[in-house]
Amino acid sequence: MNRDEWEALCDGCAKCCLHRLEDEETREIYFTNVHCRLLDVKSGQCTDYSNRSTLVSDCVTLTVDNLDDPYWLPSTCAYRLLQEGKELPQWHPLVSGNAKTVAQSGNSIRGRCVCEDDADELVHHIITWMK
Ligand code: SF4
Ligand code: SF4
Repeated sequence: MNRDEWEALCDGCAKCCLHRLEDEETREIYFTNVHCRLLDVKSGQCTDYSNRSTLVSDCVTLTVDNLDDPYWLPSTCAYRLLQEGKELPQWHPLVSGNAKTVAQSGNSIRGRCVCEDDADELVHHIITWMK
């Protein structure tokens, strides 16, 4: 898979731009509705994608090499599905042929989150709609 094909796997859901909490004993992940300040919440795109790892220390650039144990990614993330040997969902743009199906299926975070600059403690922002 070349770089363009790798990038095209991303469905643009932006779920990975939400802060999450982890139970260190069970490794259970709790997603919050608090998003990274670099996210353009209207478009669902990172506003400085090429510099994201420098500007946000815990922003992980996904590669084949760091996907060994992707439990921390959303269960619908295409990279996690790939690693787990699962098929892409019907709403994924590469399957549907339409980027709008991400939001239409309820898998975009657009309009459902708040910026980290405006949020209080993360524990107050845990969500249940994350898949
Ligand atoms: S969760 Fe996965 S598929 Fe969704 S935006 Fe992040 S990297 Fe892309
Ligand atoms: S730096 Fe960009 S890609 Fe990384 S979490 Fe923030 S908005 Fe998302």
